[in-house]
Amino acid sequence: MQSREWRLARRPVGMPVMADFELATVDLPAPAEGEIRVANRFLSVDPYMRGRMIDRPSYAPPFRLGEAMQGGAIGEVIESRAEGFAPGDLVSSLWGWREAWVAPAAGVRRINPPSGIAPQAYLGVLGLTGLTAWSGLTQLGSPKAGETLFVSGGAGAVGSMVAQIGRILDLEVIASAGSAAKCDWLRTLGVQAINYRDGDITRQLLAAAPKGIDIYFDNVGGDHLQAALEAARPFARFVECGMIAHYNDSAPQPGPSNLMYVVGKQIRMEGFIVSRFAALEDEFTATMTGWLTKGLIRHEETIVDGLAQAPEAFLGLFCGGNLGKMIVRV
Ligand code: NDP
Repeated sequence: MQSREWRLARRPVGMPVMADFELATVDLPAPAEGEIRVANRFLSVDPYMRGRMIDRPSYAPPFRLGEAMQGGAIGEVIESRAEGFAPGDLVSSLWGWREAWVAPAAGVRRINPPSGIAPQAYLGVLGLTGLTAWSGLTQLGSPKAGETLFVSGGAGAVGSMVAQIGRILDLEVIASAGSAAKCDWLRTLGVQAINYRDGDITRQLLAAAPKGIDIYFDNVGGDHLQAALEAARPFARFVECGMIAHYNDSAPQPGPSNLMYVVGKQIRMEGFIVSRFAALEDEFTATMTGWLTKGLIRHEETIVDGLAQAPEAFLGLFCGGNLGKMIVRV
């Protein structure tokens, strides 16, 4: 059996281009004892993958040139020589960016979507996206009912979960996004929305939160972080989840010019990587499944069809091409 896979052909400088990627075809071996052969159905493309295209030490190792890239994937077992796995089983793995693979079943998770939940939800609302949003907000945001939360990247995968969890926790929520259509959608979730392309984000945030914000869930960095520092109330908590505005910078950029507010306003600013909260996964899954069953959470997906489109789907993350979770259907 053959499989096509995306490789990193060269390390991008600035915004990646198609020539940085290479589509290769490989022969898959037959599974050995303890291995499974899986056909991927859905792939995740995520902003953090941009960091893995740079050759530097990080929490996730750099992609190697000329080798298949990695990423979240949901696939179907085609052939199994591993105990506990049978053809037809659905599995969640990190063997993304490819059509099919053969590998040890250890390290792969079998999933059993409850009725009404699509398998690809395990790449989004019930996967690392949901865990990132829930754990970041509840563990680091220290939310209290009635407080005001500002979340940037509000119409994206993590941001739209943060916004809705904020509402469930009785927070006043302000979410930013990059288009009028995304802001209209955010308002249907019961949150205030600001379009950062409509002008100065600080001015818009101060108008939306005249009494200031208690929690900032940062997905963007840059001018959004500057605005949040300006609007922060004393003892605000800044949950530093990501700074996508900087992922394609070719040189380090200066930080916010008003960072000194951290002192005077006694702000607690903490970054995190979702793996830190892996031990909370069962609690998260039970909580999120409950919210989904009660219809309290909406999870949009932007599905791009075909493995060949995976790089375009990935690049789309940096120009707002997605509402909710960006997913590639193989
Ligand atoms: P999203 O679904 O939010 O997709 C990215 C979105 O970011 C785009 O849709 C776009 O929306 C917005 N965006 C892109 N460039 C800019 C920019 N220059 N300024 C403002 N907005 C921009 O991705 P995820 O939900 O997967 O990730 C969101 C953030 O969370 C990222 O920073 C990511 O790195 C981080 N993350 C961190 C994790 C952790 O463990 N710490 C785990 C998972 C994600 P728009 O149209 O609004 O511009």
